[in-house]
Amino acid sequence: MCERQEELLGLYQRAVSRFSATLDASKSARGTVSKQEYDRLYQYVEQARAASEQARLDLERHVAEHGCDYLNAALSGN
Ligand SMILES: [Zn+2]
Repeated sequence: MCERQEELLGLYQRAVSRFSATLDASKSARGTVSKQEYDRLYQYVEQARAASEQARLDLERHVAEHGCDYLNAALSGN
């Protein structure tokens, strides 16, 4: 597998898990914190969502430019 792709994939997976963690936190905080506090949490969720979206685009762009599709790599035994 392409090293850069592996790196980008790792970043993407971390961004996704951060997004899901902030989402869980905002859900459990709902109703227990002030509206201001909740809005602040919600902004973290939005930032994390945008970051994971960006990481996915970076990964897709790399795969498209470099032609290192992991499925093809797996099929060719590389
Ligand atoms: Zn690559």
